[in-house]
Amino acid sequence: MEVEAPPPPQSNEDNQNFGCAHYKRRCKIRAPCCNQVFSCRLCHNEATSSLSDPKDRHEIVRHDIKQVICLLCDTEQEVAQVCSNCGVKMGEYFCAICNFYDDDISKGQFHCDDCGICRVGGRDNYFHCKKCGACYVVNLRDNHLCLENSMKNYCPVCYEYLFDSVEVSIVMKCGHTMHDTCFLKMMQQNQYRCPICSKTLRDISYQWTMLDAEEHCA
Ligand SMILES: [Zn+2]
Ligand SMILES: [Zn+2]
Ligand SMILES: [Zn+2]
Ligand SMILES: [Zn+2]
Ligand SMILES: [Zn+2]
Ligand SMILES: [Zn+2]
Ligand SMILES: [Zn+2]
Ligand SMILES: [Zn+2]
Repeated sequence: MEVEAPPPPQSNEDNQNFGCAHYKRRCKIRAPCCNQVFSCRLCHNEATSSLSDPKDRHEIVRHDIKQVICLLCDTEQEVAQVCSNCGVKMGEYFCAICNFYDDDISKGQFHCDDCGICRVGGRDNYFHCKKCGACYVVNLRDNHLCLENSMKNYCPVCYEYLFDSVEVSIVMKCGHTMHDTCFLKMMQQNQYRCPICSKTLRDISYQWTMLDAEEHCA
């Protein structure tokens, strides 16, 4: 008599069809601001930023999300990693502070208490610089010009807020910060001066710094 093989262990690796363009996850979120259901925070922001009435445009506050809807059993419930009804893990990575879920743990997500949000790249590769007010790669420790809240600024090229940007940011020798892509664009246009302090960037050394964990998929 043949022994039946035990069912394979439940793993979120099996099925990658859940989620949206931004994240693999097994839940949707109810936006506390407009009480509507979205796949993720970025889906919400994309939808609401294109509303015709500017007064309706808004961004979700991730820390205020209270309710999620399990994609497997459709049960709306309070934020938690495991569905209270069907027991599925709604995200391999889960942060109860950011109310953030992501099945792709290869990004090395971690929550920085000082930043107050989740970042990617592995906790061991980053440190939080209290003065700059953000997480920098460890080889910048004692090795960068500290500027008060340097990351809590807008990119001087595209004017996006850098602190929780989903694009990679860099810190330049002068201590000023901007998006990596915006920096490269500037170089292509032969602009070799920091747009903030006009210091020449000729022998600039710059570093990858940080990403909000709620980044775009590559
Ligand atoms: Zn909303
Ligand atoms: Zn999304
Ligand atoms: Zn469920
Ligand atoms: Zn977090
Ligand atoms: Zn941090
Ligand atoms: Zn610093
Ligand atoms: Zn930029
Ligand atoms: Zn500068």
